[in-house]
Amino acid sequence: MEIVGVDSLQDLQGKRVLLRADLNVPLADGGDGERVIADDFRIQATIPTIEYLVKMGSEVTVCSHLGRPKGNDPAFSMRPVASAINALYPDVVVRENLRFDPREEANDAGFAAELAFGMDIYVNDAFGASHRKHASIVGVPRLLPAFGGMNLAHEVRMLSVLLEEPERPYVAVIGGAKVSDKLGLLRSLISRVDTVIVGGGMCFTFLAAMGERIGSSLVEVDLIDICRELLDTGKVVLPTDILGNSATDEFGARGGAEAAVRFSGGIPEGFRGLDIGPDSLEVFSGIIRGARSILWNGPMGVFEDPRFNGGTFGVARAVSESGAYSVVGGGDSAAAVRMAGLAGAISHLSTGGGAALEFIENGDLPGLEALRMARVPS
Ligand code: AMP
Repeated sequence: MEIVGVDSLQDLQGKRVLLRADLNVPLADGGDGERVIADDFRIQATIPTIEYLVKMGSEVTVCSHLGRPKGNDPAFSMRPVASAINALYPDVVVRENLRFDPREEANDAGFAAELAFGMDIYVNDAFGASHRKHASIVGVPRLLPAFGGMNLAHEVRMLSVLLEEPERPYVAVIGGAKVSDKLGLLRSLISRVDTVIVGGGMCFTFLAAMGERIGSSLVEVDLIDICRELLDTGKVVLPTDILGNSATDEFGARGGAEAAVRFSGGIPEGFRGLDIGPDSLEVFSGIIRGARSILWNGPMGVFEDPRFNGGTFGVARAVSESGAYSVVGGGDSAAAVRMAGLAGAISHLSTGGGAALEFIENGDLPGLEALRMARVPS
């Protein structure tokens, strides 16, 4: 069964619509304790669905989670998001953060019934939250006629290209902090892609599996054997040089005192790796430019620190110059592409981090399944 798109509905006049959107935007301190939206990428993505519903004359209530609040914490209020939406659509109702109520994440049937109360239809446009079995994602579509929003449909369409018959060579570029977060993805990708480029904090567990010295770099010792199995496929490409600092220096958005040090042929004790080096970037860029399909998830280093952002921005440039069908999933890599002003040259920047990866891994998500199983009015 297919997901029915809300844009296939003509008779929406006067209908009360509950729109589950992904308005989980990063917030920053605007001074005076005020919270302001740091990046409205996800709001923009759901505007076409709101616009359609409003134009068709429906009464729209939007709901979303925002961050990971512990209880009813005003720092995670939807107020700044509601102001942004109401500036464009004054009559749209924006509910308070769904996660202020613990029954949302518990997928509580009573909470789903409260959300559905008084509504005529449900629309899920929250692709980025559709890997969660939460009340607003899988509970409500059991109770109301349910449809997919335009952003959700767009995400499914663009990501599905990589699941069907991607043009070859198909290259995955995987980075970020830990192997353990991406193990399912790596295992699922390894049989489907031609090459997996591994960078970021996760590359050190692979380098350790090859017997390389990694100093005090991030490592997951219990995953070394699994990395060895992945390396045995012959498809994994690792960095050959690394930038880092001494383990006593700081790193992160505020930086540290030392200049970056380049290591090739192993990292000595007392030092750690925080970005791929220039030789590695050249090799990675060559492979990326030769690809016809690319999936990129996760930064190549601690890109928040200007000393260690070269690998991530370099990969962003290579992906944008490749001319390949390119999908960038995950908040950090998508943010790097946008910060570098390269978004226009990428085929698809996913709004979903975990959801995009789980969709690539399994070809489905609980929220999509719930829409397919939902009642459709006759
Ligand atoms: P993820 O959420 O798994 O994609 O990981 C992103 C985080 O990984 C970013 O905050 C980076 O700072 C961090 N990261 C990337 N490379 C390294 C590294 N070599 N050592 C420690 N952290 C890293």
